Amino acid sequence: MDYDRVIEQVLTAARPHVGEGKVADYIPDLGNVEPRQFGFAVATTDGEVYGGGDWETRFSLQSISKVFTLALVLGHDDQSIWRRVHREPSGTPFNSLIQLEIERGIPRNPFINPGAIVVTDQLLADSGDAFATLRELLRAETGNPDLHVDGVTAASEARTGNRNRALAYLMADFGNMLNPVEETLGHYFRQCSIVMSCKELALAGLLLARHGIRADGSRLLSERDARRIVAIMLTCGTYDAAGEFAYRIGLPCKSGVGGGVLAIIPNRCAAVAWGPGLDEHGNSVSAAAAMDAFGKATDWTIF
Ligand code: GLN
Repeated sequence: MDYDRVIEQVLTAARPHVGEGKVADYIPDLGNVEPRQFGFAVATTDGEVYGGGDWETRFSLQSISKVFTLALVLGHDDQSIWRRVHREPSGTPFNSLIQLEIERGIPRNPFINPGAIVVTDQLLADSGDAFATLRELLRAETGNPDLHVDGVTAASEARTGNRNRALAYLMADFGNMLNPVEETLGHYFRQCSIVMSCKELALAGLLLARHGIRADGSRLLSERDARRIVAIMLTCGTYDAAGEFAYRIGLPCKSGVGGGVLAIIPNRCAAVAWGPGLDEHGNSVSAAAAMDAFGKATDWTIF
């Protein structure tokens, strides 16, 4: 694959969309991000890294962190998580309360907020420190010991995270929280506020492109579970737009309201696009255009 050509095509396709959409401001600190930024990176299973635009600028990981907490929980070989969260697309916004009440405190999938809060709760119970366990994994996979949380974003999210509190307390009422709600949420808010560049996130994503094998060659989770996480990315990774993403892009993706999108091409590469402007579902407009172009330029869309 001529990645330099691919990156050129992706940047060209994304350019008209840079600055489009609306920067997330329901977490007030995210609203301060300069909208006219865009980056794209690819890390290959052969050990090469390519990128363009603002690919070395760090941005807020937000919901993309949910992929890695799930990998860590499944790495404990703890299938019991699937009694606490389902694996179906929700068709409702990532922070909706409606389904959760009807479905008695069991979230639809691990990539909407209540599902991710359950996964963090499980990781906290399993490890004693969910946030530190995630940070250590991401530091190791990127080879970057200074990878850190943006404390201002985390505090901003904690201050305004009443909807997440409502989701977590509702689940606690149904008996689906192991730890005190505020303790789990403290870890959840910090995991979402980790900052990484496209380049770093692509390197971390290789964990899934290699079916569970870490950068040091050891195995974090079984091949089967790693493949299943990628399947859930396709069906649930972009919230209530997952159907549209599959239709338009045809790659397993996970998005976050920081504007990042991580795509996994098993056995080949992990690709990351980032642009802060979001559509009405909370997915980056320019990153979606970039992934669309990436799928076409490589012909790796799976359909
Ligand atoms: N931290 C964000 C929240 O809980 C994550 C949401 C997202 O990226 N979709 O609202």
